[in-house]
Amino acid sequence: MKSIYLDHAATTPLSKKALEAMEPYFCETYGNPNSQHVYGREAAKAVAEARQKIAACIGARPSEVYFTSCGTEADNWAIKGAAAQYRDKGRHIITSVIEHPAVYSTCKQLEKYGYEVTYLPVDGEGFVSPESLEGAIREDTVLVSVMYANNEIGTIEPIKELCEIAHRHGALFHTDAVQATGAIRYDVKDLGVDMLSMSAHKFYGPKGMGALYIRNGLRMEKFMTGGEQERAHRGGTSNTPGIVGMSVALEEAMSTLESDGKYVAKIRDRFVKKVLDNIDEIYYNGPKDASRRLPNNANFSFRYIEGESILYSLDLAGISASSGSACSSGSLEPSRTLLSIGVPIGTAHGSIRFSFGKHNTEEEADYAVDELIKTVKRLRAMSPLYKEKK
Ligand SMILES: *Cc1c(COP(=O)(O)O)cnc(C)c1O
Repeated sequence: MKSIYLDHAATTPLSKKALEAMEPYFCETYGNPNSQHVYGREAAKAVAEARQKIAACIGARPSEVYFTSCGTEADNWAIKGAAAQYRDKGRHIITSVIEHPAVYSTCKQLEKYGYEVTYLPVDGEGFVSPESLEGAIREDTVLVSVMYANNEIGTIEPIKELCEIAHRHGALFHTDAVQATGAIRYDVKDLGVDMLSMSAHKFYGPKGMGALYIRNGLRMEKFMTGGEQERAHRGGTSNTPGIVGMSVALEEAMSTLESDGKYVAKIRDRFVKKVLDNIDEIYYNGPKDASRRLPNNANFSFRYIEGESILYSLDLAGISASSGSACSSGSLEPSRTLLSIGVPIGTAHGSIRFSFGKHNTEEEADYAVDELIKTVKRLRAMSPLYKEKK
C-alpha cells in the first residue's frame, strides 16, 4: 500500500520482533496451555513468561495481569465486573464525557440496569478536574473510571490525583490506559489504580489481545464464565501466540519509550507548526503543553469545511488519517470529545486527527502537510460558508 499511515491511534503495524516470537505458537507449539502433556506445558510456560514480562513493564505482579481479547473487553470487564461485585454497596459510577466508547457505552448500558452514572465534564483542553470529581463523588459511588490518555486529542489525565480522591471516598478506580500503554511510562502501584486496561494493537502488538490489571486483593466478578483460565475469572482457551506477541511488543515499546516518544513528538511538532503557520480559521484541539499530551497526537478542526471531504482528498493523495476516532467515524455524529472541549458543532464536523508512529519520517510529515494545505484551500474555495464570510 502506497499511503502514508498517520492513524496510529486507531492501530499500529505489528512489530517484526513480536511476529517472530509468535510464529512457533501457531503450527509447532500449538498445545492448549491447560493440557497435561508436553504440548500443553510448553504453551503454558510461554503464557506464564509473557504474563511476567507484561507485569514487569507496568510494575504489577504476574498474578495481577488478566488476558482479554481486546481493550474493549478489558474496559467492559472492569466496569461491569465492579458494578456487579459491589452492587450492594452502591449503584453510582463516575466517568468522564470524553471516554472511549468501550467505557462510555458500557456506562450507558449500566444505566439501563438501574445504575446511576455521572459523566464528569472536561475543560477546553480535555482535562478532568480533581475538583469536579470531588464534587460528584458520593457515599454510594462504587467506581470511578477515567481514561489515562484520550484517543482523539491526546490529553493525559491526572490519574494519580483522581485515584487518590476516589480512594479517600471509598470508591474503586479504573483507568482505560489503552492509548497510554507503550507511550507513557507508568507504574500501577505508583498510580494507585485498582484496575487498568491495555490493548496490544495500540503498541505494535497483535490485534485481538488485551489485558486488564486487577490489583491483588480486589474481589471482582468474573467476566467470562467458563474454564479455569485466568485464575477462573476469564474462561476461554488462551491465545498463546497473541499473548506472546503482546508481551514482546510491550517490552520492545518500553525499551525505547523515551526515544520513540521524542522522535514522534518532533515530527508531530513540526507538522503542527506548519499547519498553524499556513492555515487560518483553525483550532488545534487538545493540550498546548506537550508534556500533558500524547507525543504522537495532533487534532485540528478546520472551519467551513467537512472532515469527511478532507479525509477523502487526503486518502486520494496517499495519506491515511482519521476524522475523530475509528470507533465513531462512519457515524455522522460529531465527536463527543470535541463538543465537550467547546468546539462548536459545525466546526467539530471539520476535524481531522493525525497520529504519528515510530516508522513515520519527517519527509512523510512534510508531504502530508503540503497536501493538507492544498486540500483545505481547495475545499474552502468551494465552500459557500467560507465565501460568505470573506
Ligand atoms: C482503541 C481503544 C480502545 C479499544 O481497544 P480495542 O483493543 O481496539 O478493543 C479502548 N480505549 C481507548 C482509549 C482506545 O484508544
